[in-house]
Amino acid sequence: MNASPTTTVKAVVTDFDVTTGLSNTKAPLQRRLSAMADMYADQEAAAAQVAQEDTLVYEFFDMGVPSTSGDVAYGTSITYPGKVGDEYHMTKGHFHEVLDTAEIYYCLSGRGYMLMENPEGDWQAAEFTPGQAVYVPRRYAHRSINVSPTEPLVTFFAFPGHAGHDYGTIETKGFRKLCVERDGKPAFVDNPRWQA
Ligand code: MN
Repeated sequence: MNASPTTTVKAVVTDFDVTTGLSNTKAPLQRRLSAMADMYADQEAAAAQVAQEDTLVYEFFDMGVPSTSGDVAYGTSITYPGKVGDEYHMTKGHFHEVLDTAEIYYCLSGRGYMLMENPEGDWQAAEFTPGQAVYVPRRYAHRSINVSPTEPLVTFFAFPGHAGHDYGTIETKGFRKLCVERDGKPAFVDNPRWQA
């Protein structure tokens, strides 16, 4: 066996509630609407909501795993129900800095979609229901979307430790598709503000 050239990491046991996704021992990072209001298509609705109450849109865990290719970063992600205009609550979404790295998400509770797109223009939406795992392929930006009117969407994720996060590309360009409510159901439509 090769000796590890870098850090020695001790085994870690962490609790995540199977329904809420929250931990009794770790603190999540929180994203409120004001931190991502410009990502929603209906800018007036976003501004009005922030003025009324700066809604908690999602939270997630960064476990501080070393950023090496031999490590596996993991945690849970909780996206709360709600809409901005007719667009469902979502995470900011990101590419991995190392594009050729995949990720796995396992849905613990709630329902929604993983929206994905690659730099070549392909996009996909995979359904999240409890017990289903979504494999996000290498090169695909990914964003969780909660389409339940009442339940949080809770997933457990794992990805290579060296992947890194590129939030800037999505912050600048957006995703090609939006997930909006049409006739009471989720629909994926072109994002009018998408920038090539
Ligand atoms: Mn990721």
